[in-house]
Amino acid sequence: MICLAFESTAHTFGCGIVSDEKNKCRILANTKKSYIKEDSVGIHPREAADFHYANAINVLDNALEKANLKIEEIDLISYSIGPGLGNCLKVGAVMARTLSLLHNKPLVGVNHCIAHIEIGKKLTKARDPITCYASGANTQIIGLEKKRYRIFGETLDIGIGNFLDVFGREINLGFPAGPKMDEMYFTGKELITLPYTVKGMDLAFSGLLTAGKKMIGKEKQSDLVFSLMHNAFAMLTEVTERALAHTGKKEVLLTGGVASSNALREMMKEMCKQRKAKFFVPERSVCVDNAAMISWLGILMYKSGIATKISESRILPKQRTDQIEVIWK
Ligand code: MG
Repeated sequence: MICLAFESTAHTFGCGIVSDEKNKCRILANTKKSYIKEDSVGIHPREAADFHYANAINVLDNALEKANLKIEEIDLISYSIGPGLGNCLKVGAVMARTLSLLHNKPLVGVNHCIAHIEIGKKLTKARDPITCYASGANTQIIGLEKKRYRIFGETLDIGIGNFLDVFGREINLGFPAGPKMDEMYFTGKELITLPYTVKGMDLAFSGLLTAGKKMIGKEKQSDLVFSLMHNAFAMLTEVTERALAHTGKKEVLLTGGVASSNALREMMKEMCKQRKAKFFVPERSVCVDNAAMISWLGILMYKSGIATKISESRILPKQRTDQIEVIWK
C-alpha cells in the first residue's frame, strides 16, 4: 500500500509518500517547505498558513515527482489532525480532503506526536520504548500502556525547542539556534547555578529561560549556554529515567527536532548505559516535522480498519497523545 500525506502543524508544510511493501517502511518522498527564516522572530499563525497555501501544490508536485508516481497510483491519503496551530493544520486537511474527493481515495487523520513515535520505532527497530519527544512546541515523555500512549511527564509551559530558540535569539544566533548552541555547549566549562524545575514527572522551562536572560552579559556566553542546556537536558533525562523505572521498559527512543542535539544524545545515552537500557534515535529527517511519518501512521491505522469520513475530517489543534486508542500492531 502507498500512502501520501500532508504535515502542516506549524512552520513546515510537508508531503510524504511511503510504501509498506514487504512490511518495510519505504520513504519514497519526503518533501517540505518551511515558513520560518533565519531572521524570523517566531511563527505568525495566519502568515504561516498563507505560506502553506502558497506552497502546497508545489510541495505535492515535488513529492510525486521524487517518488516517480502519479496521484492515481496512491492508495491512501492521510494528514495531521493535531496538535498544532489551527490555521496551519487546516491547509493540510484541505489538501487531503480535496485529493481524497477528487481521486476517490480513503482518508485517515492522524496524531502528529504518535506519528513521530511510530516511524521512530519502525526505523530504529525499537519495540516498546519510553519515548522522549523533544521539539519546538512539544516536550513529552511517553510510553505505551494498556493501548494508549500515556504521557508520563510533559512541559507545563513552553516546549524545550522553543526555550532554546528564544534564548538563542536573545544572544543573536538567529533561527534555528539549537545547532549553534549545541556547539557552544561543548566549549562551556563552568556550571552556573540556574533553576532546575521538575514537578513530579512534569517539567517547566520558562523560569530557567528568564534566569538565563538576566545573566546575559554577566557570565561568559559559552558557560551560560552550557549551563542552560545542561539543566534543561538533565531535567528531560531525569524524567525519562523515572519513566523507565516506573514501567520496567528497557528502551529509550529520542525524537523531535531537539533529538538532533549531540549534548542531549550524550546525556540520554549515558543514562541508558547506566540502566542497561537500549538507546535509539531515528535519522534526522524523521525527527524533525515531516510528512513521511504521517504517511506511515496513516498506513498502520488504515490497515487496522480506521478511516476518516470526509464529514468527520476535522482538525483538532489540542488533541493529546493519550486520547487515541492504539489498536494497530
Ligand atoms: Mg513535531
